Amino acid sequence: MNTQKVIDRDNKYIMHTYGRSPLVIERGEGMTAIDADGKRYLDFTSGIGVNALGYAHPAWLQAVTEQAAKVQHTSNLYYTAPCGRLARRICHRTGLDRVFFGNSGAEANEGAIKCARKYSVDTYGEGRSKVITLVNSFHGRTLATLTATGQDVFHHDFGPFPGEFAYVPAGDFAALEAAADEHTCAVMMELVQGEGGVVALDPDYVYAVADLCAAKDILLIVDEVQTGVGRTGKFLACENYHLHPDIVTLAKGLGGGLPIGAVVTTEKVAAHMGPGSHGSTFGGNPVVCAGACAVLDTMDEEFMQNVNDCAAALWTGLRTLPHVEGVSGLGLMIGIQLSDGLKAADIRAACEKQGLLVLTAKDRIRLLPPLILTEQDVKQALAILRKVLETA
Ligand SMILES: *Cc1c(COP(=O)(O)O)cnc(C)c1O
Repeated sequence: MNTQKVIDRDNKYIMHTYGRSPLVIERGEGMTAIDADGKRYLDFTSGIGVNALGYAHPAWLQAVTEQAAKVQHTSNLYYTAPCGRLARRICHRTGLDRVFFGNSGAEANEGAIKCARKYSVDTYGEGRSKVITLVNSFHGRTLATLTATGQDVFHHDFGPFPGEFAYVPAGDFAALEAAADEHTCAVMMELVQGEGGVVALDPDYVYAVADLCAAKDILLIVDEVQTGVGRTGKFLACENYHLHPDIVTLAKGLGGGLPIGAVVTTEKVAAHMGPGSHGSTFGGNPVVCAGACAVLDTMDEEFMQNVNDCAAALWTGLRTLPHVEGVSGLGLMIGIQLSDGLKAADIRAACEKQGLLVLTAKDRIRLLPPLILTEQDVKQALAILRKVLETA
């Protein structure tokens, strides 16, 4: 089926909720996406930070196909092995105690908010349900997570919204301190705001917030949906900040390309989530969990060393390119601020023509390459970016 046919059919039958590129991806191998006409692209998007091991990684593929042939799904009224196996790995890697599995980042954040409110109601009674989030944050598209998202552009036309959310500017500790009153049960934040423009929070600010939360028994929820699972050079971005939150949410990179979300908590929080308090029909799916186990098992020390080496080479190289005003983010979560009035959307489209897939976030170019990249891939991406920027 040719490219135009696929696009026309999609345009007719799919809701137009995305601005899309006229590109049909038919298959992939490692770092390479291949379109319906056989053209190859170096993929520095991983979906949006999802394909942590690139396309068709052999360990992931084997785990997924073997599990699909055994049992593809059963209800959460029964046990399957992969989900507990994955939960144990996640607890070992994060130092947290318990996991709830859902199917997306938004669903993980919904679960985190429910956990925080449940803990608070059980411990302090009603009237302590406020969740503080940061301006420019992104936490998802469901009604509660949309409300938690501190960007008005997403809020138009979808109200009324659930109550008891408050927003404070990122980095402004005094504002957060003032908002954190006796009605507050949780603070939720991304350590590197992804959709908000790839902006890392200042460590001193994060420590101050963590101390305040600990002093007031306000639960700290870190949304690691995009930053988690190796993306920033550590398993969690929290490790870069030496931070030990009460709740961490994971999703994007965890499943290696299949849908999964996870709420990961301390025992203190999990103890309040008994039978009937939360659920998900698809949550903990054995095929997805088997794939996610393969993702985690692949991320050993040597793997993470390569992530950090490639990130360093990329950061250094990007700073030498023309029209680059600054580089932001952490590890392999990278924003590129352009100068001279260049538009990120135009540069993205030009890169695509030259065989390099990149993303944008606000007015920045955004790179979220698969974590399996090599120094050779970094060189190739930099060469294409240089060519595009030189002629822009
Ligand atoms: C993508 C993202 C979400 C939403 O994840 P979905 O799987 O699209 O629901 C939430 N939080 C952060 C930080 C994200 O980057």
